[in-house]
Amino acid sequence: MEGKKVVITGGAGFIGSHLAERLVNQGNEVVIIDTLLRGNKIPKPIFDKVSFHKVDVADRDEVTKLCKGVDVIFHFAAILGVDIVADNPIETMETEVNGMQSVAYAASVNRVPKIVYASTSGIYGHLALEKSVDEEILVDPRTSYAMAKRYNEIYLASLFEEKGIESLALRFFNIYGPRQDNRMVIPRFMEQALSGKPLTVYGSGQQTRDFTYVDDAITATILLAEKVRGFEIFNIANEREASIQQLAETIISSSNSNSTIQHIDAPKKRYDYEVGRRFGSSEKLEKATGYKPKTSLKEGLEILFNN
Ligand code: UDP
Repeated sequence: MEGKKVVITGGAGFIGSHLAERLVNQGNEVVIIDTLLRGNKIPKPIFDKVSFHKVDVADRDEVTKLCKGVDVIFHFAAILGVDIVADNPIETMETEVNGMQSVAYAASVNRVPKIVYASTSGIYGHLALEKSVDEEILVDPRTSYAMAKRYNEIYLASLFEEKGIESLALRFFNIYGPRQDNRMVIPRFMEQALSGKPLTVYGSGQQTRDFTYVDDAITATILLAEKVRGFEIFNIANEREASIQQLAETIISSSNSNSTIQHIDAPKKRYDYEVGRRFGSSEKLEKATGYKPKTSLKEGLEILFNN
């Protein structure tokens, strides 16, 4: 993508800041909307090149003003992190619903042709028990976070039917990479390994996740934004399943740490969120773009430790 004007809501967050960095480097005009609730993860040289606005995405009037003449709105602002979401289910839903209402209004008033929305693989609930999940499977959201994301996916589908605003809902599978904070398991384990503390594996550690390196996720996001018409849902997944036990072992060996692995019960509030297996199919992504994520977990961790 080049020479476009884009808005990124949540652009100071983990995935949003990587997206901002790539889009600035490709020669796009980038407008960021973020409350800075979790700080600013945009690297300074990139921050100097974006137009930054400390605005709540739910502020319809401000968002509408900022979306004038925009080609794509990347709507990535959200409350996330299992612990935070589990403590704040009402606010999680409110942020999703109000945020999407204001983005949809802004797109409609300003005739913005496309919205790219950060959905979640959490929507699949317990469905990845035997095989990787594809986008056609009937979803099973179990938590306020997944429910809110699913609600917005359906809303975007109707918005396309009713108003012709094109959109993508991207179901991200455990994205990781530089600048992620320790709400998520990889930075948490890395921090523990580097300080010689035990790595806190919840339960048996046999639960699996599909860890997807952030640069790959950004490549996929931009290619999809350029190539796909209408309303579509895409998994952004690495298609490789790793157990949390394996993850802990790999992190200890990649960092030459003396840490041990400690198996403890997950905090009670995580119970509804804990799924036994989660891994996704990237077939639809590859068909649409010719690309699929390629960085293995081991390679991704090496990049992180060498940073
Ligand atoms: N996890 C863990 N120890 C921790 C934090 C997380 O074993 O200190 C596990 C958690 O039980 C889950 C996986 O790591 O199975 C991924 O957790 P995260 O919160 O990063 O993302 P989720 O997939 O739950 O959205």
